[in-house]
Amino acid sequence: MLTPSRLIVARKRRGLTLTRLAELTGISTHSLSVYENGHQTPTDETLDQLATTLDIPRQFLEAPDVDEIPEAAVSFRALSKMTARQRDRALAAGRIAIMINDWIEARFRLPTADIPTLTGHDPESAAEIVRAGWGLGERPVTNMLHLLEAHGTRIYSLTAENDELDAYSLYWYGRPFVFLSTGKTGERGRFDAAHELGHLVLHGEHQVPSERPAAEVEANRFAAAFLMPRASVLAHGLANATPDQIVQAKRVWNVAAMALTHRLHELELLTDWGYRSACVQLSRMGYRRAEPEGIQRESSQLLGKVFRSVRADGMTPARIAAELGISPAELLGHVFGLTLTPVKCGAPP
Ligand SMILES: [Zn+2]
Repeated sequence: MLTPSRLIVARKRRGLTLTRLAELTGISTHSLSVYENGHQTPTDETLDQLATTLDIPRQFLEAPDVDEIPEAAVSFRALSKMTARQRDRALAAGRIAIMINDWIEARFRLPTADIPTLTGHDPESAAEIVRAGWGLGERPVTNMLHLLEAHGTRIYSLTAENDELDAYSLYWYGRPFVFLSTGKTGERGRFDAAHELGHLVLHGEHQVPSERPAAEVEANRFAAAFLMPRASVLAHGLANATPDQIVQAKRVWNVAAMALTHRLHELELLTDWGYRSACVQLSRMGYRRAEPEGIQRESSQLLGKVFRSVRADGMTPARIAAELGISPAELLGHVFGLTLTPVKCGAPP
């Protein structure tokens, strides 16, 4: 028997409108919407056809009811450039990642969430409060993803077809989730993760209207202040820094050269003119579109541990995927590809 809410998630996961799914299957839009609102259930044959077209095991469509992620729960940075279809696809992908997380939570004790709610705070002081609460002082963050996971955030990767998005985050039944693209530079990934932490801290309590541009600016200011603490930047003698000095100094905080330049300007260590000219020069040096000689992309530590542990118990990724009613490739796409981490036999621990 079809579970209507599952058909909706599977369709949106593929980025399909009802009309497009109707074209692909030859089933009328009317019938499809009747199936989706649960007024009628499709025949066995139709169910198979839907599963094939949606490239999802039929089992997924028949598993217990799921609740969709409401669009108002998420602040999308790229929203103005995104279509409703792209937004729905990203949310449906996140919903599947949450199913994977449920599977993990049922078997492992994961860290409890420890993210302060600082609604209405200035982003700069909010970043300082979080740092103080987490005992970070002014030290650079070694690994942003590991830090978030240690404080109870669940982190999953955005699947490849959602590459118009950098990241998004939300509270799901009290648990903070961050979904991250894996296609950007390592420095950018750290900034995106800190940006999402900003949303959780500043906007997590209330569901943020997704089209509020101020929320995006606040999350960016939070990220800059969190990764490049004022006192630490001021102590590095970067007043009127040259592009070469910026490229050198960005390694202290593992941030993009452009992000540090912006921060120096924000802290009045660069004049307006100095900021503009540094941007132009860094751009010429290739730092606008990329991060020459950049750092490696950070990945989840928790998921790596989980999959190593289940593998040691003889559980294969294929079996986990089957239990979830998804394909192994789908599982892989949500977990930074970590299910394939080989276990080295006989290697020292
Ligand atoms: Zn944002």
